Parts: sequence; C-alpha cells; structure tokens
Amino acid sequence: MVLILDGKSHAERMLAEVRAGVERRAALGLRPPCLAVVLVGEDPASQVYVRGKIAACAGTGIRSVEHRIAAGTQEQLEALVAELNLDPGVDGILVQLPLPGGLDAKHLLRGIDPAKDVDGLHPVNQGLLLGGQRGLRPCTPSACISMLKAYGISLKGKRAVVLGRSEIVGKPISLMLLEEHATVTIAHSRTEDLPGLCRQADLLVAAVGRPGLVEGSWIKPGAVVVDVGINRVDDLELGRRIFQADPRKLETLLAKGSVLCGDVRFGEASAVAGAITPVPGGVGPLTIAGLMANTLQACEARLHVRALPGHGVGVWGDGE
Ligand code: NAP
Repeated sequence: MVLILDGKSHAERMLAEVRAGVERRAALGLRPPCLAVVLVGEDPASQVYVRGKIAACAGTGIRSVEHRIAAGTQEQLEALVAELNLDPGVDGILVQLPLPGGLDAKHLLRGIDPAKDVDGLHPVNQGLLLGGQRGLRPCTPSACISMLKAYGISLKGKRAVVLGRSEIVGKPISLMLLEEHATVTIAHSRTEDLPGLCRQADLLVAAVGRPGLVEGSWIKPGAVVVDVGINRVDDLELGRRIFQADPRKLETLLAKGSVLCGDVRFGEASAVAGAITPVPGGVGPLTIAGLMANTLQACEARLHVRALPGHGVGVWGDGE
C-alpha cells in the first residue's frame, strides 16, 4: 500500500514552529519578522500566490508589507529593491515571479541583499548552498527535504533522479539531496531515455511543469516520488490520456473544464511507488511554509554587513 506524503500536515507543523519562533521573540520584547512582497503586473496566478503568502504571514505573526506595482520599469523596481535593502525594519524581500515581459528578473534578484533573499535565488546564497554552508535556501526544495526527513525516509546512499534543472527547484534540490548523501542524477529536456533513467530511481523528484509526463511504468517498485509540478489541464484529450488511472481528476476536468495535476500520473504511479506526494496537497503547501521559515531565519540571523563590489549588500556571517 502506497504511503501518501501529506505536505499539508507537514506545512502546518512548519508554520506552527514559525509561529512559536515569532512568539518567543515577542516574549523577549523583540519585533516580529517582516516580509516585503513585491508584485508587478496583473497576473491572476501571481495575485493568488501573493494572497496566500500574505495570509500565511498573518497566520504566523509575521508582518507583511505589500508593494503592488501595476507597471514598473526596471529602474523603478531596482530602486524599490534598493530601498527595501536599506530598510532595517524589513527582514525578507520577495519579488513574485514571473515578472511581466521586458523586465529582467535575474538582474533584479541580484540586487536583493542576500541576507534578505528569502527565495534563496541570489548568487551569494546559491554559492553558500553549493559550499554546504548556512544561508537562505530556496523554499520548495528545503521544505521537501524537511518533509522527507519528517517521514523518516532515508536518503543516504539512495539513487535519486531529479527531473528538471531550474534554479528554483531542480538544481537546489539536487544539491540538498547530495548533502543528504544520496547519489544524484539531474535530468532535463535533452536527457536520453528518461523512462529508463527514472526506473533506476529510489527517489524520483519531478519538477518539470509537464502534466502527467511521468508514467507509472517509469517508477521503480517501492520508490519515493516527490511531484513538484503544478499544472492546470483544460485539454480533454490530454486529460483522457493522463488520467486513465485517476477517474476523479477526469470527472473534475469534465465538470469544471480544468483540473490541477502534477508532472506524475498519480493513479498509475501510486500503484507502483512506496510513497508519493499528491497534487494538490503535496509539495504546494510546503513552499509557503518554507518562505515563512526563511523569513524568520533571515530576521533571527546575526549578520554583519560587508559591502560587496557594486552591491553594497549584507552577507551571511557568524555574527560579530
Ligand atoms: P522551469 O524553470 O520551467 O524548469 C523546468 C525544467 O524541466 C527544465 O530544466 C526543463 O529542461 C525540464 N523539462 C521540461 N520538459 C521536459 C521534458 N519533457 N523532459 C525532461 N525535462 C523537461 O520550471 P520550475 O520553475 O522548476 O517548475 C517546475 C514545475 O514545478 C512547474 O510545474 C511549477 O509550477 C512547479 N513548481 C511548484 C512549486 C510548488 O510550490 N509546488 C514551486 C515551484 C515550482 P531544460 O532545462 O532542458 O529546458
């Protein structure tokens, strides 16, 4: 019988820990952590994500400041980030991605003070992760690892295959699995014989953004499957193909015109896997919990501010 990895419950535990941390600060007379959220444009999905993040802040006692910008130039956004960097009352800065066309997200993210980079996407934090050192790490991968550990799933010596090599999920989770002593292979759109590679995986992480790409026949019996993908399917023909073993998904698609699913064909995969995350209710809730944990960590970290050439930003330190 497959074990369903319940991301929602684990996220609730993580949020309760953050809340306790914020309360501990309050008992010491310290201010709550503060997250600044920057939302540019009118993308409906981004608005939903931002609402969720603001609500999670409220639920954990973290203060949030929202900067909604209907249409901003690169210079305006960089000026806002620079202002938030200098604001001693702001601990974390989150720029909701994707940015509208014409804006350079990578350049903007590089301008965030690494000590406030709660998405863990600044090259300084990426470098710290690469070096196995303390820093702010991308929320989704670190929360996934935290959940696997909470379930007592051993990663040591295990063969892990990560589908996807993005900076936000694929690459960081691969490094974190390596840190946990797994033997890691990273696959991507040019990888040959993806099914054959996946069949070798004791742990399969799918972070691709292709609905139902991973078939049941790709899964090694007893494997742990972490499905990071969140896809909205509204194509009936595709739905009929990928939801053959998920009649409920197909029913929802027929009734509502669209349905959320992961990169893995859940019904097929759960007949073979030892453990699996569902979509929704698996990795999704973990991301916001990870963001709250990072905001508290950023607030609590003892930093020393060292100017980096061209940035004037703070970096992680061991304290004074
Ligand atoms: P991304 O930046 O688009 O990266 C997708 C990766 O998948 C790329 O490395 C790409 O390879 C690879 N890929 C695409 N098609 C493939 C194929 N047919 N076979 C093998 N590899 C393929 O996406 P992302 O930001 O990492 O997100 C991935 C998925 O996770 C999305 O569905 C996203 O919505 C979801 N997500 C969920 C959460 C959450 O909270 N649960 C958080 C973040 C992301 P190349 O590099 O060769 O192009």
